[in-house]
Amino acid sequence: MDTAPSLTDGAPSLTAAAIEREEAHAAHNYHPLPIVVESGEGAWVTSVDGRRYLDCLAAYSAVNFGHSNPDLLDAARAQLGRITLTSRAFHNDQLGPFVESLAALAGKDMVLPMNTGAEAVESGIKVARAWGYRVKGVADGMANIIVADGNFHGRTISIVSFSDDPSARDGFGPFTPGFRSVPYGDAAALEAAIDENTVAVLLEPIQGEAGIIVPPESYLPAVREVCTAKNVLMIADEIQSGLGRTGSTFACDRVGVVPDLYLLGKALGGGIVPVSAVVGNADILGVLRPGEHGSTFGGNPLAAAVGSAVVALLETGDFQRLADARGALLAARLTALIGHGVVAVRTAGLWAGIDIDPALASGREVCERLMERGVLAKDTHGSTIRLAPPLVVSAADLDWAVDQLAAVLRDVSAA
Ligand SMILES: *Cc1c(COP(=O)(O)O)cnc(C)c1O
Repeated sequence: MDTAPSLTDGAPSLTAAAIEREEAHAAHNYHPLPIVVESGEGAWVTSVDGRRYLDCLAAYSAVNFGHSNPDLLDAARAQLGRITLTSRAFHNDQLGPFVESLAALAGKDMVLPMNTGAEAVESGIKVARAWGYRVKGVADGMANIIVADGNFHGRTISIVSFSDDPSARDGFGPFTPGFRSVPYGDAAALEAAIDENTVAVLLEPIQGEAGIIVPPESYLPAVREVCTAKNVLMIADEIQSGLGRTGSTFACDRVGVVPDLYLLGKALGGGIVPVSAVVGNADILGVLRPGEHGSTFGGNPLAAAVGSAVVALLETGDFQRLADARGALLAARLTALIGHGVVAVRTAGLWAGIDIDPALASGREVCERLMERGVLAKDTHGSTIRLAPPLVVSAADLDWAVDQLAAVLRDVSAA
């Protein structure tokens, strides 16, 4: 089994030098763990000091198919040798196959290609507002959108306008109006917030950044019913939960719900290029007319070639099955840690939120200690850590990662 030696032996100088160089001139909007990654394959990455680490974050699920996935690299390399950017002023031969296959994967008929997740969310909001004015008949400028407390949808001004996380919002006003936030998991509260000017409900089917918050099983079906009854669009932000992570293609599939719009990103670019999309039917996405929305890079041939290769991987169902099988193992192992330094565990497929006893350690401290033992994970909100390894992680490696977590919990309990 591959393990990383402690930070205190070996030669940490390369790491320290690389970190110093980055911190001198990169804006300090992140607080990374003190590891400098140089390469990666599958679920493992290697640092500049030559140490190997099991990646249990997978770039927030952008690397669901593993680092250096050979099928995705082949698709990217082939396209690099042809053409990479045309802009949408012209057609390119990769976009058609990509949007056709992605729409089919989602059971819809239209795709709006963008780049980052936040752009997909912004695009979904614009589409919902335009649909509200042009199709639903809401008076101009009056549209509102219902969101959920604890949401994370990205970092743009409009998106942080409806965040309730002070570190995402404070100091960035004035904010975009037109959003109402209701408690997550409470369909009655959501229904009560809807009025005649409501054009959409925007939700994560499972809240990722909030700590892998899985709503009650009846919640999303109830939201679907309310949205249909009130002629309101249901928009599922599946940027982190979608594309295999939870054991199904979309987290909505777990409860048999079909939203009006899917927002996709992260893994859609295979960890190679940023690729995001809004996916829906033409009666909604068709409201956009030429010139009303766009992106210089959205739908570029390199992104489309990689995106097509990602869709092809998902069409096999293999990655969904892997997430399901490995997820069952992860859930069983983590549940056994409850009472041994762990207060609560929430899982969905190969995705886990673990609440550490705050009296023992912060999430950050647990992640630092995991790193010393060769496991990379990320804390969120105080004493919660999240695990989201690439779906290709082996059962033995996953087992070993949980062993390391158990050892860290024993260490902090003894300290
Ligand atoms: C990461 C994420 C986003 C934003 O994606 P970016 O590519 O970072 O802009 C939006 N929604 C959810 C649920 C996410 O996890």
